[in-house]
This record gives sequence, C-alpha cells and structure tokens, in this order.
Amino acid sequence: MKKITFILPAFNEEENIEKLYDSIVGEFNTIDYIYEILLVNDGSSDGTLEKIREIAIHDKQVKYVSFSRNFGKEAAIYAGLQNSTGDAVILMDSDLQHPASLVKEMINGYEQGYHQVVACRNRKGESKLHRLLTGAFYRSVNKLSEVQLENGAGDFRLLSRKAVDSLLQLSENNRFSKGLYEWIGLSKKTFSYENVERQYGESKWSFSDLFSYALDGVLSFNTKPLRLCLYMGVFILFCGLMYIATTFVGIIAEGIKVPGYFTTISAVLLLGGVQLLSLGIIGEYIGRIYNEAKHRPHYIVEESNMVSPSKFVPRVVSSKDVEEIFRKNAFAYSTKEDQR
Ligand code: UDP
Ligand code: MG
Repeated sequence: MKKITFILPAFNEEENIEKLYDSIVGEFNTIDYIYEILLVNDGSSDGTLEKIREIAIHDKQVKYVSFSRNFGKEAAIYAGLQNSTGDAVILMDSDLQHPASLVKEMINGYEQGYHQVVACRNRKGESKLHRLLTGAFYRSVNKLSEVQLENGAGDFRLLSRKAVDSLLQLSENNRFSKGLYEWIGLSKKTFSYENVERQYGESKWSFSDLFSYALDGVLSFNTKPLRLCLYMGVFILFCGLMYIATTFVGIIAEGIKVPGYFTTISAVLLLGGVQLLSLGIIGEYIGRIYNEAKHRPHYIVEESNMVSPSKFVPRVVSSKDVEEIFRKNAFAYSTKEDQR
C-alpha cells in the first residue's frame, strides 16, 4: 500500500495539534493509503512539544523532529521533506487553516499522475489593505522574476516523491518555497477552496516579516533589480550629460548667469537617492551571497523519535564523513527518552 507523509510545521500551536491530528487520521478511515505524520516543532515556547510527544507515544505512524530554536517555517518544511519516507507528501499548516477534508481531492490528483496538487485559497475574511498589498506583491514578483506565482497558492499542496527529491536538490539557505515549487516545474493540478480563518493562537507573521518575505520573493529568483540599477544609472547619466551640454551651449551663447540653486540641489538629491537605492539593492544580494557562503545547516535538531542520521548532518560532507560524524555523535540523534 502506498504511503502519504504529512509534513506539519508547528510553532506555538498547542491548541491545534491534537485537533489537527484527529482530523487527518479521521480522513484515513476512507482512504486506501498508509499515513505517516511528520511534525516539525520549530522551537515552540508553549506546550506544543509535549502535545507532539503524547501523540507520538500512542501512534507509531507519528514522527517528530524538534528544533533547538525557532528556525522559521521554511526550515521546518525543509526538515520535513528531508525526513519524509512517503510515496508522496502533503504539506499542511498546523493551525487548522488547511482543512484535512481536502486530502482526498489531493490524492485523486496524485492518482491521475500529477506531481503537484495545489489547494489554492481565496482571500475571504482578509482585510482590504491586506488583499491590496498581496495583489501588488504577486504582480511585482511575476513581472520581475522568472517564475510565475499564483495568488493564494501556498504551501498547502501534495508533492510526489519526484517533486520532493527535486526540491531537496535546491538546498539554498534563503528559501522562498512558493518560488521553488514553480522553479522545479513538473505537472501541476490546482483546485480552489474557501479560506479558513485561524481559530486558536495567532498568526506568526508581522508586517515586517511579510515585507521581508516579499523582498525574498523578488530577490530570490532573479537579478533584474540589479539591471534596473544599471538602467537607472544610464538614464541619469544621459540626463546629466544633456543638462551639461545645454548649459555649456547657453554659457557660450549668453555668458555665465547666476547659477541656479534649485537645479544644483535637485541634481544632488536625485543622484544621491539613486546611488543609495542602487547600493541598497546590491547590498541585499551581497547579504544573501554571504549567508549562502557560510554553508550553515538549515536547522539544528534537539530531539526526535526518528533515527535517521544521514539526514541530520550538514549537506556538504561525503558519505564517509557521515559515518564518522554519526559514530562520534550517535547520542545526539537519539531521543531524549533514550538518553535517560
Ligand atoms: N510556523 C513555523 N515557524 C514559524 C512560523 C510559523 O513553523 O516561525 C508554522 C505555524 O505553526 C503554522 C504555519 O507555519 O503551522 C503557518 O503559520 P501562520 O499561521 O503563522 O501563517 P499564516 O497562516 O498567517 O500565513
Ligand atoms: Mg495560518
């Protein structure tokens, strides 16, 4: 029988974990697949880990990985993908905003041979300002980058094993999953569902998080903003040369007049602004190169009920190194229960 792995990133979701688990297991009464539930505790400070441990004790199909601190949802998804063993995986939020009742439809798509089956939400219940900003975000990313994103299509999706393995080949640290799903391509089926509002706990996204996420979206998939700096530079240089030429002709024809304060100050401000903007854009790219160059692991695991050592070591090591590291640190990968 085929296996579906559910990847559930959780950061302070103690009120939701059990309900989520029940809703997934409930669906499998009528689905002819085995499930594996892989919970990734992303450094929660509430009782999320305790809830996860309780569920894992009673159900051997439940696996978990608990991070040493909050590494972010993208790292949690990456850990889930690395440790999944199913023929297909379903990525789902742990806050009950992704209804388990849609799992059947996803599996139907998988059986039809699609590598990605995406549940796309509408924007019901969101404020007008939020909708306006998200609309602008999608338009600008799609205009600027090589991947085309669909408004509302997020992480709630089924991925075939081939899609998971393809995503794992993209091992960059600064992950913008929405773009990565599009980048790998593969056949895709999309269906829509009514947005569900969060009932317990609160969203972890502040306005500044959303802003830096949007910036990631624009910068992760293209170098067009750098080219924009070049175009701006060329345009301003052209205007400057024109100004110099006309002023010079004026001086030759009419002699030197009192120099205009306004033109000088506008030129200085304009050039200063464009230079700072360009430097800022270049800086953003350099920052990303710096982060990638460090080759840090995406996350550190503090506790897990899986013994899957090769998945927990940094990716830039040979298989011989893997064995050696595991031999030396075998205790680090066992669960806390085992260590007692
Ligand atoms: N999440 C996570 N790490 C984080 C932030 C969020 O694992 O640093 C998880 C969170 O527990 C939830 C999912 O990612 O399962 C979506 O988070 P949230 O509901 O805050 O985002 P929203 O639905 O508002 O986009
Ligand atoms: Mg949510």
